[in-house]
Order: sequence, then structure tokens, then C-alpha cells
Amino acid sequence: MNFTRFTLAGQSLASLSIGCMRWPSREAAAEVINTCAPHGVTYLDTSPAYCFQTPEENTECWVGAAIAGQRERFVVSAKCAVGGGGNEIGEYNPERGFSITTADQVRGMIDQSMRRLGVDHLDCYQLWAVHAPALFDAAHRPGGWLEGVLAARDEGLITHIGITGHADGDEIRRWVDSGWVEIITVPFNIMNTGRLEAMQYAMDNDIAVIAMNPLAGGFLGAASGPLAEKMADMGVSSAADLALRYVASLGISALGGMTSAFEAEMNTTTLSQPLWSPEEALELGARFTQLIESAPHFCTGCAYCLPCTEDLDIPGILRLRNYHKTFDLESARREYRDKSRRDERFQADRCTACGTCEGLCPNSLPVSTLMAEVMREMV
Ligand code: SF4
Ligand code: SF4
Repeated sequence: MNFTRFTLAGQSLASLSIGCMRWPSREAAAEVINTCAPHGVTYLDTSPAYCFQTPEENTECWVGAAIAGQRERFVVSAKCAVGGGGNEIGEYNPERGFSITTADQVRGMIDQSMRRLGVDHLDCYQLWAVHAPALFDAAHRPGGWLEGVLAARDEGLITHIGITGHADGDEIRRWVDSGWVEIITVPFNIMNTGRLEAMQYAMDNDIAVIAMNPLAGGFLGAASGPLAEKMADMGVSSAADLALRYVASLGISALGGMTSAFEAEMNTTTLSQPLWSPEEALELGARFTQLIESAPHFCTGCAYCLPCTEDLDIPGILRLRNYHKTFDLESARREYRDKSRRDERFQADRCTACGTCEGLCPNSLPVSTLMAEVMREMV
């Protein structure tokens, strides 16, 4: 296994971390954890809401059962949110850890997490789901979230304090400059690199950085013959291989939402291979982008063509077509089929070929022809 340069609770942070939000069962949780641990993959990212069925059946309880008798092998992270899961503070919901705004409420959450996890201290405690600057500000109110967490750290209940959310680069820099953040977890993958500079700023300030969604929600987990072929000179064997080693080569730990021992084996094997230098990883990232842009009739996603007279999500549909044409990714076709079943804005057959969008597209794309192609090749 490769490791980042960061240490949490006395353990080196591996290039792979364990995301605990997608497990189908208690048994699967134990399988994933016990497959990863022998490789040194021991960081467990939990929340009170993940896999929640009842107060006794949820991610925290499943992790507690899996690590019983071997707790010291793991870096256990828990969290709760000032917000309600979106951009605002919602209704107080301690069972699932949302809208926790006072120091007393946070203390209750820490006690609940320790009880469910069966531990007497938490290695990391995180301000969760900070999707808007106002939520970060709210955590700093007198008698609020941060005050409660700092008091718990003084009591020895918490070792490190972190933050997670879908913030942009400027906001991530504000987190870093706050001075109390020791770990940051934000979305990042080879298809979504806009936060990289801010993440680098965090690492330069000795903050451990963890990437949520390293496989773009499983999108990059699909096989791609063309991708492996076009990057064979750098030893890339699959889209997942490229995506995971890209993240790790930049010094970031990839938070894998593994659901079975098989997936845990795949990810640990992938991230035990040699990494690239950061410069090589960036070069591979640039090549990945260039390859997508070389798709015939590449759509840039600029959205100048909107609104469609039939309310189709033209950039959304053509984005998936870009990946289908370039990398022959089954996940692109699957995502198109899933979306078109649920959302009529993704039903390409609703295009009437009125031509309105084509007159607005700066790249002169024959959109109606491409919609017909999507129906032929992607359904
Ligand atoms: S040509 Fe099709 S996609 Fe374009 S505006 Fe008309 S209906 Fe919408
Ligand atoms: S205007 Fe053209 S390039 Fe831009 S999103 Fe629409 S189809 Fe794609």
C-alpha cells in the first residue's frame, strides 16, 4: 500500500481510506474493513446518518461491531453537521447528526457516536457537509459547534478536528486559514479537478486531504479498452486504475466507497502499485482531458444552447455522450439510461429537431443529429 505523508492518531494515512456510506449490510461492512486493514488501510469515515435503518442498525454500529477487539488498529472518524444536509440549517436531528448548532448538542453527538462505535475516544471529529460559507460561519458562533468540539478535545475525547463539504477553492482556503482544521475531505477526481490548487494549499499547511468521490461516483469504475490503450505507456490498466493512482500520486488519500471484499481487494491492489510523480499525474490528467475533448462533436458544456424548446438538458446528455464516444464507458451509457428513465430532460427521443439550439451553439454542433445518435448507441 502507498501512504500519504500525513499521520493521524499516530498512524500513517494510507492512499486509500474507507468510506462507510454505501454498505449493503453489517456483514459487508465487516468484510470491507477486515479486507482493508491488513494493507494498512485503516481510516474509517463514518457519520450518524450513513446506512441508517434504526439507532441500532447503521454505519456507526456496524463499524463498532467490526472493530471490536481491534480498535487500536483503526483511525476512527465521526462527524455531525451544523447544516441540515443542504446549504442551510434545518431541523435539529440528532439521530442522523444534522442541524447540530450548540456546544451542548455537539457534546451529545460525540457521546452518541462513541456509544454506537463502542469506543472511548474518537481519533477524528469533523464538521460535516459544509456546503455553504454560512454554515462554516455558524459553527463559530459563541456557544456553538466549534466551542463544543474544542471542549471535547480538551477532555481527551477527540484527537483531530476536520471538516468536510462541497466548498469551492476560496472557501477551502478560508477553512485552512481558520487555524483549527487538521483534515479536509472534499470532492475530487480526475474529471473534477477544480479544487486542486486549494487542496494543495491545505497540504502545504500540513493539513491531511482526503478526496471524496475519487471514482466520480463509480463512473470511472467501468472498464475502458480505449483508455487503457491510449495510456498504456504509463502503465494504466483501467479507468479506475488511472483515477485512483491519479489522486494518490498527488499526495491525497482516496476515500473509497467500497461495498464488498471484492471491491476492497481491487482498490487495495490498485493503490499498492507504484505511484507517478505529481508532475506525471498532472500530465496524465491533462491527457485524460485532451482525450475527452477529442470526441467527435465534443460538447464543452457551455450551455449557450439552452433553453431547449423541449426542456432537454442538452449539455447533460452530451456530456455523457462525450465519455461514451471517447472511452466506450459502459457507466456513461448506464447513467444515461438511469437518468432518462427518471427525468424527461434526459429523454433524447423528445428532441423535435427544431434546430433552435443549433443556431446558438458556438461549436456548431448538430445537436439534433447527436440526440438521434444517443438514442441509437446509448439506450
Ligand atoms: S433541436 Fe432538439 S435539442 Fe435542440 S432545441 Fe430543438 S428540441 Fe431541443
Ligand atoms: S452550446 Fe453547444 S457546446 Fe455548448 S452545451 Fe450546448 S451543445 Fe454543448
